[in-house]
Amino acid sequence: MEGRTCLLRVDLNVEPGQERNTNRLEAIIPTIRWLLKKGKRVVILSHRGRPRRFDRRLTLRPFAPLLQKKLGQEVVFVPNFNSLKTINYKLKTRIFLLENLRFWPGEEKNDPAFARKLAALGDFYVNDAFAVSHRKNASIVAITKYLPSYSGLRLKEEVGKLGGLLKYTTRPFTVIIGGAKISDKIGVIENFWRKADYFLFGGGPANTFFAAKGLPVGDSLADKNAKFLISNYLNSEKIILPVDVKIHNRQILDIGESTIRSNSAIIRKSRTIIWNGPMGLFEKKGFEKGTVGIWKAILANRKARIVVGGGETVASLRLLGTRRLGVRENIFISTGGGAMLEYLSGKKLPGLEVLK
Ligand code: ADP
Ligand code: MG
Repeated sequence: MEGRTCLLRVDLNVEPGQERNTNRLEAIIPTIRWLLKKGKRVVILSHRGRPRRFDRRLTLRPFAPLLQKKLGQEVVFVPNFNSLKTINYKLKTRIFLLENLRFWPGEEKNDPAFARKLAALGDFYVNDAFAVSHRKNASIVAITKYLPSYSGLRLKEEVGKLGGLLKYTTRPFTVIIGGAKISDKIGVIENFWRKADYFLFGGGPANTFFAAKGLPVGDSLADKNAKFLISNYLNSEKIILPVDVKIHNRQILDIGESTIRSNSAIIRKSRTIIWNGPMGLFEKKGFEKGTVGIWKAILANRKARIVVGGGETVASLRLLGTRRLGVRENIFISTGGGAMLEYLSGKKLPGLEVLK
């Protein structure tokens, strides 16, 4: 790999204005440093948001100075393929950041022609974007046809930690599911149904169970069409639903104090824990206590192997005033939301398959 240019796919999918409040930059720094030791240059690739064409708010440009500061060396932003040709690696610069891949329609279409265009920018390819590896996009899948392709450090770590959960788990094993739609999470429930001892529910999924049991949920967030999805699980003793809830304007918006206590007791005795989905509408003051309670119980358990993932779930860590990626050694905070759920469902992720 010496003297060669690496195309590094990362995940800088950060909301506009939140460039400084993310741990996604931090997560990719070790891989960039590692690649600079091994190769000559790194061209960083990422998407941001779901633009169809150029969208000023979704440019990756603001990340160039931030990366430059963290890496202590020049990072050149490349707005299009023409300017990359102009630069043509004549500069002493070793790090480039290409514009938002989704400004080109070929990215989401997994278009071979676009992948070839990307591939021409480097000599080998590294995927360090676990969170996007469930997507058949040109910079994740098609590109691997044209370049030798490897896993980045962070991606390896994700696959190691999550893969470990698929192989063996120590009991008691608890799966905590909150958030919005149960249909997004049902695969994880199915895959761990026999192995896990407890499934703790909060958020929309808990409401969906209530509705399926014929309990009134008013205007709560619930997947009323998901009844058939959960019918097999409805009456199992493994399913732990909230025993009390917080209601506002005919909506169940959080789990209650007794539920926080009983859930915490289960978390305390568990030795494997998977958590996805906040327990309530934590963004709204007064409805964050359930989510905070689960975090506290999880942070207090130093014996269990714990994996936490999901965009909002991880974001809710800020309620505890900590922004570090690794909270404790026994807790792994996944960078994947949808990708983590698919991986833990036992599905093969297209972006990982092509790295083998
Ligand atoms: P993640 O991104 O962690 O996978 P989801 O996307 O499934 O989680 O859902 C997160 C969202 O669900 C949060 O924005 C949260 O406010 C919302 N939510 C959780 N519980 C409720 C509830 N009871 N009522 C309304 N919204 C809720
Ligand atoms: Mg989400």
